[in-house]
Amino acid sequence: MSLDNHWFTEVDITHGTAFSLRITAKLHEEQTPFQRITIYDTTEFGKLMTLDQMFMVTDRDNFIYHEMITHPVLFTHPAPRQVVIIGGGDCGTLREVLKHDEVKQVVQIEIDERVTRVAEQYFPQLCESNQDPRAHFHFQDGIKWMAAAPDHSVDVIIVDSTDPLGPAEGLFDSAFYRQCRRVLTAHGILAQQSESPLLHLPLLQSIHQAMREAGFANTRTLHFPQCIYPSGWWSVTLAGASGLTQFRINEVLNKKFNTLYYNADIHQASFALPTFVTEALPR
Ligand code: SAM
Repeated sequence: MSLDNHWFTEVDITHGTAFSLRITAKLHEEQTPFQRITIYDTTEFGKLMTLDQMFMVTDRDNFIYHEMITHPVLFTHPAPRQVVIIGGGDCGTLREVLKHDEVKQVVQIEIDERVTRVAEQYFPQLCESNQDPRAHFHFQDGIKWMAAAPDHSVDVIIVDSTDPLGPAEGLFDSAFYRQCRRVLTAHGILAQQSESPLLHLPLLQSIHQAMREAGFANTRTLHFPQCIYPSGWWSVTLAGASGLTQFRINEVLNKKFNTLYYNADIHQASFALPTFVTEALPR
């Protein structure tokens, strides 16, 4: 079916915003037990995946998000060996994590296997590292997986989930963060996609508060542009026992893999927050 001059629009009723991409065809659509997965072809952004009619990932701009949810936290950790990804079904985060040679194992816990299988078909470049022997996949609820994980067994946890709705809602509360704190090693760090600093500031505040309540002494938010998400401005929040301001800058400057957005200057600049955000967050 040709949809020339048609648009896919995500309307955010709560915040009175909408964002559209011009589409040429709907390539796939299915209802899974968890969500509706739809794939479109667009005129300017390549392939688009939506989940329950919300923008999730496009060929053109996913690199910003996937680089910024992985490289700052991995270069902040002194020696990440064991990494866990909660969510991440499109596998773009997994691909970035596996660029770090020091990482020995990445376990991805995605509740909906169909997201990964559809991504393998329509976003093969995001899935190009899925056969890496260090990559392990579990298709189950990340909340349950974390509750059963052994103490002090993981160096970095990355929560690359959908918005705090439905199955993802429990990934944004102190009970889950307490489990993450128990599962992380002494210098372990949690990194979570933490929505828009402009539209979701109360949520960002509650994330910091819940992480502190769960025993993380330090929390720190970084931000970056992401045009397909509401407001076009997104964030990731880090939580750790030790400080989060030092990072392995020499290894960033001498890294052997390419990035299109992340670099040492971006690492430092992304943690510089506007006044209205710093005033809302705990010191
Ligand atoms: N980059 C996207 C964003 O920021 O909105 C998210 C990427 S990924 C597609 C989000 C994934 O989180 C989805 O595939 C969804 O199935 C998964 N997810 C939601 N709740 C989950 C849970 N409790 N456990 C594991 N995966 C979950």
